[in-house]
Amino acid sequence: MQSGTKVSADLGSPIDISLPVHPSYDLESRRKALERAVSSSSKPRYTASVDAFGIPRPTSSPLRFGEWCGDISAGASVNCHVVSVCPHGAGTHTECAAHFLEGSATGVYSIEDTRPEKSIKLAVLLTVEPEKLEKSGDTYAPGQPEDLVISKRVLESAVKSLEESYLSLPPAPAGASSALVPFCEAIVIRTGTPERFGEKKEAPVRKAGSEETKSAAKPVHYSYTGKNPPYFTKEAMEYLVSLNCYHLLCDLPSVDRENDQGHLIAHRVFLRLPLKDSPASSTPAAAAGIAKGKKEKEKPPVPTITELIFPPDREEVPDGIYILDLHVAPLLSDASPSRPVLYPAAVFHSSTFSRPF
Ligand SMILES: [Zn+2]
Repeated sequence: MQSGTKVSADLGSPIDISLPVHPSYDLESRRKALERAVSSSSKPRYTASVDAFGIPRPTSSPLRFGEWCGDISAGASVNCHVVSVCPHGAGTHTECAAHFLEGSATGVYSIEDTRPEKSIKLAVLLTVEPEKLEKSGDTYAPGQPEDLVISKRVLESAVKSLEESYLSLPPAPAGASSALVPFCEAIVIRTGTPERFGEKKEAPVRKAGSEETKSAAKPVHYSYTGKNPPYFTKEAMEYLVSLNCYHLLCDLPSVDRENDQGHLIAHRVFLRLPLKDSPASSTPAAAAGIAKGKKEKEKPPVPTITELIFPPDREEVPDGIYILDLHVAPLLSDASPSRPVLYPAAVFHSSTFSRPF
């Protein structure tokens, strides 16, 4: 942060932009229980669920030891369930280069290497309108002309209009393309999914010990499977890297095309990994910042990508600068369900208040 610049955050107004993992899909019961238990409304988060890539839904079933069944409804003194979830298609999750490195299954490289103790970051929230790949001027090797993409042009124009909406930002650092760069360690991209790009379905409900039934209350389930949702172009990711962004959050199931023939171009560019078919000049782990042996201070942030966030509408939470608190479950794995929380922030530069909130 440049001298003379201060950021003030409203820590009393957290905005949870996560979509929880729902093993039971019994969302209506969950909503009712929450209404009884807490005063906060948070209604969309508890009445929506998603799937993507045809990944099987999460499950939760009681642990069994012989006759003993770990569920109070079966007479046990506690609930003790075994939860099975693939984070990549079940709700908000954060991944890192371990998603692409051999050894993540054994914990050699994992989401834990993203140093979650530094979870507080400055973040920029941007709403973007995807455009057709053929009109974007960008590239994406396995893409089709009609695909909807988040292009460099789309991102640049969102950054520019946000810059203009601030009354006073500090001048751009030397060599930087935007005055927002000091605030861009994390960028949160909102496209309006899943309402726009997912298929809305009535959520099936599975309760412990029963077959799947339809819920009378019709909680909403969004399926991205087979829908070819929008994705980021190569140039868009290069632009985010040029803004010094290390943490990208988006409301899409993936930053890459649903079927991209395994290239994962957008992931690889953002995670600072060599492209699939290029000769790597350094080891992938070092390229991605997950390198052992360097002094903590010398290490750059380890890039992360968080997908399937569920931010409120723009009218409720406007584009702008926020404080982001991003926590992952402490799993030694390539990805983990996560809870990103935004706090409204204001920027003071040379005693000038940039934007009231
Ligand atoms: Zn993922």
